[in-house]
Amino acid sequence: RAVPDMPQDSIFRNALQLGIADQDVVRRGNAFELRGVHPIFSEGRVIGAVLASYVLDKAWLVEQHEETGMHVAFTHEAQVLGSTHDAFDRVDSRAIFAVKELGGQGGEFVRWPIELHGEPHDAVFCPIERDQQAVFLSSLVMLVSAQPMIETRARARRAMALTGAVGLAVATLLAALFAYGLSRPIRRLADVADAMRHGDLARRTGIRRSDEIGELALAFDEMAATLQGHVETVRRLAVTDDLTGLPNHRRFKEDLQREVDRHNRFEASLCLVFLDIDHFKRVNDNFGHAEGDQVLKDIARELQLGVRAVDTACRYGGEEFGVILPSTEIDAAVAVAERIRAAVAAKPMGREGHKVTLSAGVAILPIDASTAQGLLECADARLYQAKETGRNRVVYSDS
Ligand code: GH3
Ligand code: MG
Ligand code: MG
Repeated sequence: RAVPDMPQDSIFRNALQLGIADQDVVRRGNAFELRGVHPIFSEGRVIGAVLASYVLDKAWLVEQHEETGMHVAFTHEAQVLGSTHDAFDRVDSRAIFAVKELGGQGGEFVRWPIELHGEPHDAVFCPIERDQQAVFLSSLVMLVSAQPMIETRARARRAMALTGAVGLAVATLLAALFAYGLSRPIRRLADVADAMRHGDLARRTGIRRSDEIGELALAFDEMAATLQGHVETVRRLAVTDDLTGLPNHRRFKEDLQREVDRHNRFEASLCLVFLDIDHFKRVNDNFGHAEGDQVLKDIARELQLGVRAVDTACRYGGEEFGVILPSTEIDAAVAVAERIRAAVAAKPMGREGHKVTLSAGVAILPIDASTAQGLLECADARLYQAKETGRNRVVYSDS
């Protein structure tokens, strides 16, 4: 509920700055509000505070009256703020002050006999103190008729006690419960935020509640999902060639190194096919760069169609491509290279339908080389060999 003076309250300052639970009583018109504030901690830091309030108003007086059968009233300073009987309005203000004086010193419940319209009454003084410092906060006084039977009065006093220690304890307990209910999901949010900060973008709070904390957690989880999506997109773009959509040079190098390490470990064979478009400069020179780009795209498509799912076809750079063929013998790798070469040679390329051919060099690990660099150099040398011996061909040995 709205607490307009909240930031100025010293109990809030205590909770937020010192991390201590505190309580006080505030007069609100003709009612009193008992308030307990409880700090919320996360990782040893105070991150907020929860207020629980317990209102003593006319309705509360009526409840006490119905339970005890006695008329009750609040007085504050010399004034009656609320009562269950008109007779209280004429109570002697000096009596109220006298009770205040006496009770303010002891801090106990004080019973003070008061004559009210010729009938004996008890003024039960309930000192309201702030429990950390035992500071006297309010002169809350309740008047009860001394007329009814003794045990009824005892019950009345028990009810009265609620305005003092019990009432504030209830307020503080409520605050503590709220704070606990809040601090757990907030700690979970903080944990997930921390995990995400350390790179675990798949983490979610999973908190589903119908209050503001639930809304916050849901927004957080949605933000995390969006962020994860964006990061995945950025990662994918970083290793993808813009023009052809094939894995780029960086990805090719990473994949080749990984596969070489893996195949060396398992003593398995790995093939690399290196391809280069023949006389590609002529396409650009005769038909323009845009047409050259289209040819590159078309050839990339043929490459993707020509390799198995386990193989990786990459754009190495310019008009050069590399295909990594894991766990493959030289014959199978040559067959793949040959199939791609034949498909490209047979198909009109670009918007203008050019005849374009490829040259390729094939190398195998561990026979031709045992490192990624060595394999690359061997395949490249054979590609050069293919160019030298007439282009539009696949070379897979040094002979
Ligand atoms: P060779 O048969 O000896 O390989 O001859 P080539 O003309 O293909 O070889 P060269 O290395 O002389 O020329 C490669 C050309 O590829 C030159 C360059 O402008 C072109 N090229 C490289 N990247 C791109 C690109 O992204 N788009 C276009 N349109 N052309 C590119
Ligand atoms: Mg080239
Ligand atoms: Mg070329």
